[in-house]
Amino acid sequence: MNFNFKKSLGQNFLKDNNIIKKISNSINSSKEDLIIEIGPGAGALTKELVKKESDVICFEIDERLKSILSKIKSDKLNIIYEDFLKVNINDYINKEYKKIFFVGNLPYYITTAIINKIISESNPFEIVIMIQKEVAERFMAKPNSKEYGSLSVFLQYNFDIEKICSVSKNCFIPIPKVDSMVIKLKSNKKAGLKNEEKFYKLIKDAFKQKRKNLRNNLKNYNLDNIEKKLNSFNKDLTYRAEEITVTEFIEISNHLD
Ligand code: SAM
Repeated sequence: MNFNFKKSLGQNFLKDNNIIKKISNSINSSKEDLIIEIGPGAGALTKELVKKESDVICFEIDERLKSILSKIKSDKLNIIYEDFLKVNINDYINKEYKKIFFVGNLPYYITTAIINKIISESNPFEIVIMIQKEVAERFMAKPNSKEYGSLSVFLQYNFDIEKICSVSKNCFIPIPKVDSMVIKLKSNKKAGLKNEEKFYKLIKDAFKQKRKNLRNNLKNYNLDNIEKKLNSFNKDLTYRAEEITVTEFIEISNHLD
């Protein structure tokens, strides 16, 4: 491909048809649904997405790709040349859709910013993303593993997370330094939480210094209250955040005051 790839925009384009098909096949959308693709690049995945019945909106920051992307002809496709992080997603959705699917092979450095934006501005049904393998492992990590952190708890509270496939660095042009993984985040807020803001602050504080125990990281909280709740799970303040499950964090958060 005769294109001057910009490293600063995370431009590693997929060239493996098998992987492209796997990503596309993991999106079960109908004609009443919308697919939003973030960073279509040269359109490797876009070409597959427009074969579905759904409308497709793409956000691509790099206008140099216009001449390549404009070759994809489809009535269902709308390509917006803007920074996805700066747009208001809803400004571009001009009809009622049953479900909204987000998909993207994301530049690694903006993965979490993109997920945060999607959650705060829309009501995604599923998000299918290709991200750095190590980051995907953190997203899916279970308690008592070194990858488990506040991001794991935050995402697993909001979504059920499923691995779609691993992707070798050789599937891209140019070849990046890291391997990737495609994962699906299926919206499924876990039941019973009273106050999201409190919960998000609690998990951030609890994991602040990963090697310290809850007594140290949650110094500014009502520790008697937290200890009582922990005791009901046969745990106490000497435990570290990485030993506390998502459900337990929800319960602790509900009993903060
Ligand atoms: N989807 C294509 C593929 O799989 O071949 C390209 C993936 S490449 C890893 C990431 C793409 O995201 C690039 O085309 C880049 O220009 C675009 N991009 C980077 N930052 C962006 C942003 N903030 N908003 C929209 N697109 C962005």
